[in-house]
Amino acid sequence: GRGCTAESVVDALRGAADAVIADKARLTALDREIGDGDHGENLARGFTAVLAKLDSQSFATPAAVLKLVATTLISTVGGASGPLFGTAFLRASTALGDHTELTGAAVAAALAAARDGVVARGKAEPGDKTMVDALFAAVGAAQHADREGGTARQVLTAAADAAEKGAEATVPLRARKGRASYLGERSIGHPDPGAVSIALLLRTLAATADT
Ligand code: ADP
Ligand code: MG
Ligand code: MG
Repeated sequence: GRGCTAESVVDALRGAADAVIADKARLTALDREIGDGDHGENLARGFTAVLAKLDSQSFATPAAVLKLVATTLISTVGGASGPLFGTAFLRASTALGDHTELTGAAVAAALAAARDGVVARGKAEPGDKTMVDALFAAVGAAQHADREGGTARQVLTAAADAAEKGAEATVPLRARKGRASYLGERSIGHPDPGAVSIALLLRTLAATADT
């Protein structure tokens, strides 16, 4: 297929930013249940800054786009999630290297690098009721889709499907990392906001991937 030029990655990230901003209230409401009620605001602030930066620059490679997203999120989102989302995009950028066409394999490798970066930074394991739960599910499904010969779009769709299930699977869990862990037993019965936002991002990227 055509693969993904830097420009189509910019379009995909614009779509993801629009989706996060549109879902700000829902993400914040989730964080009101088991956190401090700012997750949607934090991400919307970051992705509003991302939109402005994407409009003001041009990019040679997909990796350059992801690197700008990373540094922008790190400097604007704050909280626990800012450095974690920033690390995810930074590791994905490094994994893509000089690739100008994004194959299913490249996307799966980038997602695995993002997951590993979040784990290295936040020290959460699967089952701790964090974004890591959505990321582990997403990477497992992405790698499977790649082994089956999937395109970038198919790999991202598999990742998004699995991330949604992974986010839903955080509902019965007791939080062991982040602010929600302060609630102990009372964190049970609600989805983790960061896992939900990972799923939202992947769903939007899958929808906008061109092949
Ligand atoms: P804060 O908790 O500082 O207000 P946010 O509300 O923006 O930050 O983000 C909360 C989300 O961050 C949680 O829902 C969880 O997914 C994620 N999170 C918090 N701590 C960790 C961690 N150590 N590892 C992975 N994810 C984490
Ligand atoms: Mg919060
Ligand atoms: Mg906060």
